[in-house]
Amino acid sequence: MAYDVVVVGGGIGGLTTAALLAARGVGVLLLERAPRAGGCCVAFDAFGHRFEAGAGLYASWQPGEIHERVFAELPVAPPQVREVELAYVVRLPEGTDVRVGGGFEEFAEHLRAVFPECADAAINFYREATQVADALQRAARRVPALATASKLQRMRLALKEARLSSIILSRADETAARHLVNTSARFRCFVDSQLQIYAQVASDECAYLYAAVALSQPFRGMYTIGGGAQALADALVEAIERSGGTVRLNAPALRLAYDSRGRAAGIDLLSGERVEARRAVVSNLTVWDTYGKLVGAGRTPDAVRARLKSLRGWGAYQIFLSLDEEAARRLPAEHVLAVAASRDNGPFDPERALLMLGVAPAWDARAPAGKRAATASTFTEAEAWFSFHADESEHEGQDARALEERWSRLHAALPELGAGAEVIETETPRGTYERTRRRLGMVGGVGQSLEVFGANAPTHRTSVANLFMVGDTVFPGSGVAAVTQSALVVADEIAPPRR
Ligand SMILES: Cc1cc2nc3c(=O)[nH]c(=O)nc-3n(C[C@H](O)[C@H](O)[C@H](O)COP(=O)(O)OP(=O)(O)OC[C@H]3O[C@@H](n4cnc5c(N)ncnc54)[C@H](O)[C@@H]3O)c2cc1C
Repeated sequence: MAYDVVVVGGGIGGLTTAALLAARGVGVLLLERAPRAGGCCVAFDAFGHRFEAGAGLYASWQPGEIHERVFAELPVAPPQVREVELAYVVRLPEGTDVRVGGGFEEFAEHLRAVFPECADAAINFYREATQVADALQRAARRVPALATASKLQRMRLALKEARLSSIILSRADETAARHLVNTSARFRCFVDSQLQIYAQVASDECAYLYAAVALSQPFRGMYTIGGGAQALADALVEAIERSGGTVRLNAPALRLAYDSRGRAAGIDLLSGERVEARRAVVSNLTVWDTYGKLVGAGRTPDAVRARLKSLRGWGAYQIFLSLDEEAARRLPAEHVLAVAASRDNGPFDPERALLMLGVAPAWDARAPAGKRAATASTFTEAEAWFSFHADESEHEGQDARALEERWSRLHAALPELGAGAEVIETETPRGTYERTRRRLGMVGGVGQSLEVFGANAPTHRTSVANLFMVGDTVFPGSGVAAVTQSALVVADEIAPPRR
């Protein structure tokens, strides 16, 4: 069979690209290896609960933002979303709760109260970050693919943001830590814990410009999605099909097919079938898997191979919990980022320090009466789950040890849970790999250090003509909103919207 465009992978990135292209009249086929589309966002259903695979907090659903822009083109309604009053609470090791979100001035007063030792420096840090982020957001609205923008596009942008563009340019080579020098260790711990979630690295590595956008996200508004992010995936599948596109589930792609000039010309499926792509192939696989699996080692340029080796991501260890309604109400917020005390005062260790609890909102409990579905997510070294396993029982042992350690950390950090939480299931990077086939089960993109951010970032373009990439490893920004943005960039490059 021949299509205009073949999209490999039905995560939010692949689904959004396919939905936009189909709505623009392009003949699209989407291949997804799993029985259900959604990738990292596929919900886990058990005992009457629907668990989100992630933290369940989503950005950019407000009017004029990326999701509205995408759904304006699609023949289906977006899923139901509601803005949360408070994005999340960061609970510091000594038990102080820092409320993040709401109006900026109210937050600034709160910072003054909880960080009296460096209040002015902390407020200034956030104030400048918010201004820089606003300017970058405006720029991204005009030119979504900033990393690959032409010189002319960049110059036009600089003229429009003349006041801030010099500040932005001067900050391009700085880490976030550089801007935290006058703040206390407690405040840096507060910032590091959030950057680790948004950027996969702490302030000493994180590019300042990325940090500015990420940290100001809660003040632009955060949302929960009715039915979780799975509902977004389901809406996108419906949109593709209503526009005449094709979604094939249980259809693993094996490798790229090339034409005589070495351009991407289709996909060979694991089944032995070949589908042709007349205009383009879009990979929703991670950047490592796009080259490792689709392009193939023989056609991957040395420079790309070296670059891929230098990129790293984290694995996630997750616990799916059934929470008593009363326990959920005792929590300071539905999303709590708990930071454990460092045992040895050594460097920030995300694996031991952080635990993010995301509870389904009261309006969409996703659980039997009197309960709420909740997901506790922690970082883990992905490689450690793939080595030294002689048999399955070793993986189970590792899972049991990880659960015991996280379980006691969860209760130590959030004693108000009491006996109101019950473990339903866990997921290790091995499970994530089984579900998504992401390299080593690594999730959430690549660490946004200075070496990766900006001009050095992997982008949607590849070394193969007519092959594009979408997804969380090839676009700066975190989560579903950034992945959606990456899809818009690629759809616009393949088939711009009709004006
Ligand atoms: C613990 C955790 C918490 C998170 N919390 C949030 C949050 O609160 N808010 C937020 O916005 N984001 C969150 N995220 C991030 C977000 O979920 C992901 O970044 C996003 O869903 C990734 O989408 P993607 O399109 O890049 O790729 P993926 O979801 O990885 O999709 C890729 C798809 O390709 C398919 N595939 C792979 N190989 C093949 C093949 N050979 N042939 C065909 N198909 C193939 C896979 O099955 C998969 O469906 C979280 C992530 C994690 C892990």
